[in-house]
Amino acid sequence: MRKFKTESKKLLDLMINSIYTNREIFLRELISNASDAEDKLYFKSLTDKSIKLKKDDLVIRVSFDEDARTVTVSDSGIGMTAEELEKNLGVIAHSDSLEFKEAQMVAAEEAAEAAKEKGGKGKGGSKKKPAPSTVDIIGQFGVGFYSAFMVAKKVRVVTKAYGEDVAHVWESDGVEGYTIAEAQKEGHGTDVILTIKDNTDEENYDVYLTEPGLKELIRRYSNYVRYPVQMECMHQRKVEVEGAEEDADPQWETYFETETINSMVPIWKRRKQDVKQEEYDEFYKSQFHDFADPARTISVHAEGAISYDVLMFIPSRPPFDLYSKDYKKGLELYSSNVLIMDKCEDLLPDHYSFVRGVVDSQDLTLNISRETLQQNNQLRAIAKKVESKITSELTSMCKNDREAYEAFFENFGRGIKFGIYTSYGAYAAELAPLLLFYSAKQEKMITLDEYLEAAADGQEAIYYAAGEDAERLAKMPMVTSVVGKGYDVLLCTQDVDEFCLQTMMQYQEKQLLNVAGGDLGLETEADKEAAEAATEANADLFAAMKEALGDRVVKVAVSTRLTDAPAALTAKGPVSLEMEKIMSQMPDAQGIKSERVLELNAQHPIFEILRKAHKNNHDKLVSYTNILYNQALLVEGLPVEDPVAFSQAICELMK
Ligand code: ADP
Repeated sequence: MRKFKTESKKLLDLMINSIYTNREIFLRELISNASDAEDKLYFKSLTDKSIKLKKDDLVIRVSFDEDARTVTVSDSGIGMTAEELEKNLGVIAHSDSLEFKEAQMVAAEEAAEAAKEKGGKGKGGSKKKPAPSTVDIIGQFGVGFYSAFMVAKKVRVVTKAYGEDVAHVWESDGVEGYTIAEAQKEGHGTDVILTIKDNTDEENYDVYLTEPGLKELIRRYSNYVRYPVQMECMHQRKVEVEGAEEDADPQWETYFETETINSMVPIWKRRKQDVKQEEYDEFYKSQFHDFADPARTISVHAEGAISYDVLMFIPSRPPFDLYSKDYKKGLELYSSNVLIMDKCEDLLPDHYSFVRGVVDSQDLTLNISRETLQQNNQLRAIAKKVESKITSELTSMCKNDREAYEAFFENFGRGIKFGIYTSYGAYAAELAPLLLFYSAKQEKMITLDEYLEAAADGQEAIYYAAGEDAERLAKMPMVTSVVGKGYDVLLCTQDVDEFCLQTMMQYQEKQLLNVAGGDLGLETEADKEAAEAATEANADLFAAMKEALGDRVVKVAVSTRLTDAPAALTAKGPVSLEMEKIMSQMPDAQGIKSERVLELNAQHPIFEILRKAHKNNHDKLVSYTNILYNQALLVEGLPVEDPVAFSQAICELMK
């Protein structure tokens, strides 16, 4: 037996026990190697005219033997000579790919070193690059084949290089070493035969010894491998038994048929005009486990410094866990048709986390476990394109298919608003045009652009009100008074709305103002003067009312905007009453309070009653003040602080 080099042993041990957490990907790795081997033979045949390949020559076969506990992956590719076996499988650190990548890395390091010597403080010059450690090497270079040892207690590789007469077998238990011997094999190519481990308490290995188990792995991970991945699949058929009674139980016989398990032609490589929408729909539903057709299909083909194909879908309904912590965003990432990553998060911004899809690029450099990406700038370039494509698709949907867009926004608008809020407005320019709010005047969902189009010339702000439901908001005194003056008000009913609008601060240079906030700048000079006069004339009254309310309000004042209602609560400063309400419901509520102002309508008959009470009966004034304050809370949809005292005060009044 030839021993693994100490270094290799360490690597093997590390990898089997720590790197790959996802054991089932062994099959993908072996199929991927098989596909590479067929590629190599195919490319050779292009220049070597003595190699005659028939159409069906290049296939990959997967089979299993339950009794012997073996799974076999066979290819008819280029195969390996004894030397190649030794070199490729004997020493982990000597796989073809590694040698190449090592050379690349040395070159890169030398270049960095040279840059440093030049005295340049350029990129990388000042940062010291750590020497590649064992783990780095595993992390960067191919040991895909060795993933077989995650599920196998023994691996046999029987292989015959193209054009050779003798075959060889490599065999190892993945612990100490391996053997290489001459063997018998018919044609060129390689059979990798795994003896599957016995089940343990944690791990069920038997699933790899079943037809459905293997089929599922092939479809999941290798569906778009270019070569057919075939299995002998079991079928049953009824047999006619001669002379059998008519009502006798039917007889069944088992037979096997070769089936191609993978679909091979990647749908994302095809031009959109060549694919029927039904085909996209089917692909979407099977790939992403949705019952409903997607709302939109986006297909991108980019060629240039980096070439890639993207196929994305906007679902027509949200997955049940979209807004939960468990939801994982991301696009599937393929490199040359082989699945690298199930959900590549880096490809999707959070605000588009609902998008499902596939990115395929042969230009991506991948690390050993094929799970992490090295060349992040390439990935970033793709991510940028992905994002801009989604934005433009949504923009056109909003313009040209409003009904569908409204349904979309109902499902996913919240994420877009969060995108503006959580990015501190960084995404506002891109996302704000996609927002929809309910218009009090037009009584339908409108965009901010549509709000501005309908606004009169010279309107300086965009007005909104925030609360739980639109119908109730429309009746709020602050809303009716602004609408009464001819301005539209956006009625915001989602918890994130006001946070989003406050983060934006303005849209198209128009301020976004909460009608229940501080100064709206809507009152006329005359209104202002009247209010100031009333405030001065009634300074004592307001002081007494403020005293009665204590810390609950920061101020009692004359309103410049109330028309029908006697009083209302507004908020000074950035925290509105609605925001206070939402924040108090958050799990880490920090008791953030709005600065409440009790505004009084000096034109209202109640105001006169307050003045009288102030003159004649202080207790009455305190009681009226409390009632007005509590009523204002109710109108705002806020809880009355002491319902018992409130109802007693009203009973008192009725007596
Ligand atoms: P990688 O594929 O990343 O190079 P592997 O450990 O999976 O790393 O494989 C090591 C080497 O063994 C490959 O580079 C290839 O040269 C050779 N090899 C593996 N499987 C096969 C196969 N089925 N046919 C021919 N060569 C193979």
